[in-house]
Amino acid sequence: MPRATETKAKPVAQLKSKDKEHPPPPPEEVLEPSSTDRPDGAVYRVGKLLGKGGFAICYSGQLLPTRQKYALKIVKSQMPSKMEQKFQTELQIHSKMRHRNIVQFLRAFSYVNCTFLVLELCPNGSLMDMVKRRKGLTEPEVRFYSVQISGAIKYMHSKGIIHRDLKMGNIFLDHQMNAKIGDFGLAALVVTGRDMQTIRRTTLCGTPNYIAPEILEKGKKGHDHMVDIWSLGIIMFAMFTSKPPFQSSTTDEIYRRARERDYEWPSAEVSQKYISQEAKDLVATMLEDADQRPDPDEIVQHPFFSAGYMPASGEITSKLREVPPDAE
Ligand code: ADP
Repeated sequence: MPRATETKAKPVAQLKSKDKEHPPPPPEEVLEPSSTDRPDGAVYRVGKLLGKGGFAICYSGQLLPTRQKYALKIVKSQMPSKMEQKFQTELQIHSKMRHRNIVQFLRAFSYVNCTFLVLELCPNGSLMDMVKRRKGLTEPEVRFYSVQISGAIKYMHSKGIIHRDLKMGNIFLDHQMNAKIGDFGLAALVVTGRDMQTIRRTTLCGTPNYIAPEILEKGKKGHDHMVDIWSLGIIMFAMFTSKPPFQSSTTDEIYRRARERDYEWPSAEVSQKYISQEAKDLVATMLEDADQRPDPDEIVQHPFFSAGYMPASGEITSKLREVPPDAE
């Protein structure tokens, strides 16, 4: 008999929720049913709500008896087929990723009409929350995060994975404020330049502000992975200025501006922030046509990274609580 049926915790189905998209709140304790690699199953004590996504709800969870904390991402086992597809993609791809700047995927299990993903806990929210709170980061901080994200992109691309939805809201922060890429729901596995059939391919995927122009042009192929470099260019601009470069009131206008590279850096007087020419040059190269964009190795060799101070991992934690002195 699976251990899940032996629980004294209330079954999920009995808990009421008005929210139709998201699963209802889980019981206080969740039992992972036994499996071949974990014959005794496991018990997770459910903690605070971390956030809600399009279809998932995320809680902190503590594995008993080790007391190790995780993020429990929960989705209903029955969901509309479009969401089901996104979720399957996420499971297939995320579970194969292992990199210090990618949210570690530990396990997945089903329990009372829900699927639980056990993920590395990122208790400091997303890069978007932090950048908004700080109204933009300093150059050393942008260097720190750009190097981490470039490293994760290099790793994903070396495994044939294109993330396709890189944005500040999908980059989470661990307890030391390191960047961890998450949400692989739109990712694709590329085989000899073409996406595998099992993986969803849509002409339009991603988030308007971060979408590379070539995704909008049907039939343009050959540099698929470079869409992630475009997104990193947008992320870098947004880390400095706290808004993406092509931000507009309509999606069509965002796309037009992206196609025409119609963006402006805020003047130093307005933003009261120093943004070096090296930083602007690097972002500009990432927003070139796909075949002109730098790959992750070229990115980290750009003069922007040697032109000023580069914080070490760990050092950024306390610095992010204050406004660190810019070394330029
Ligand atoms: P969806 O796939 O439905 O978009 P997300 O992956 O964006 O869901 O997760 C929803 C929310 O849960 C996020 O916005 C974030 O607040 C929180 N979250 C997701 N993963 C983690 C994690 N590993 N650590 C901490 N919080 C997380």
